[in-house]
Amino acid sequence: MRLILLGPPGAGKGTQAKKLMERHEIQQLSTGDMLRAAVRDETPIGLKAKDIMIRGDLVPDDVVVQIVEDRIQMDDCGNGFILDGFPRTVAQAEALETMLHRHGLDLDAVVELRVDEAVLADRVEKRVAEMGGAAREDDTVEALRHRLNVYRQQTAPLIDHYRTTGKLRTVDGMQEIDEVANDIQRILDEARSERVRAD
Ligand code: ADP
Repeated sequence: MRLILLGPPGAGKGTQAKKLMERHEIQQLSTGDMLRAAVRDETPIGLKAKDIMIRGDLVPDDVVVQIVEDRIQMDDCGNGFILDGFPRTVAQAEALETMLHRHGLDLDAVVELRVDEAVLADRVEKRVAEMGGAAREDDTVEALRHRLNVYRQQTAPLIDHYRTTGKLRTVDGMQEIDEVANDIQRILDEARSERVRAD
């Protein structure tokens, strides 16, 4: 099973991706986590990405596209994967389509977690407080505000993009974590039966 989780920073993509990973034995591919690891290890990509990420801007498309393409070919992705934080621009979505096609793969669903933006700043502030300080260098209210603007301008257009391809499914991300997970599960079951009917 291969799916994309779409939604603004703080929508709960990572939390839901982890649940899906356990339930379906598929990999969570978080470009944010992969980039943070590159920054930590001071790899060439990490050195390039570090300041961009602290500001809350997007790392260049070609960098993240290459990371994803390398990752989806690894053996542990044989059962499928959840893309969390990728694609984030229309150009990334187009590059993803091309690469999936090249590897003979297809997406099962694109799940949008819809949340009220007013709660997002609260969620991040809570996350910072719980960790006793910012766990991530971009977990500050200012950086989050900037990431939200970047999301609105560059990533939100993907919602229409995937609506047009007929793959988009929207879930109310304001519910409790388990209710969101149940809604996602229902969507995946539907996507599966649609695929069986189509075959
Ligand atoms: P969040 O969803 O909380 O904003 P992520 O962990 O997904 O955070 O991403 C953190 C940062 O990593 C982003 O602000 C951006 O700088 C970089 N990044 C992650 N994924 C991508 C991507 N697909 N394209 C460009 N930059 C990315």
